[in-house]
Amino acid sequence: MPHTARSGSAAADRHLSCLWCGRNIVESEAGRRRRYCRQSCRQRAYEHRNSLKGTGIPDDSVVLSAQEAADLADRWFAARCAAEDVATAVEEGAGHDELAMLSRTLVELTREAERLR
Ligand SMILES: [Zn+2]
Repeated sequence: MPHTARSGSAAADRHLSCLWCGRNIVESEAGRRRRYCRQSCRQRAYEHRNSLKGTGIPDDSVVLSAQEAADLADRWFAARCAAEDVATAVEEGAGHDELAMLSRTLVELTREAERLR
């Protein structure tokens, strides 16, 4: 999504994430608020709610498999390492090109880390 009306930083843009997978939702032109990034996420969420019926687990719970939780932790760990690389490079007085490369990596990894699944 192009940042046409920035007010300081990209973080100021309204952030919506898919209730199923956590990916960023691109708003449709019609302006109707979407809760899922795609049809398959809507479907999985519906199946998930049905599977929780009668279990006492709230149907808006986020339930991750052990593997999904481990993968999420791995993505955040990679993002933290990239953030530490940026901090180290700044402390060591790295040049613009190196900082630009490191921060691009940081942005990519934190974007990946937003995913729940
Ligand atoms: Zn999704």
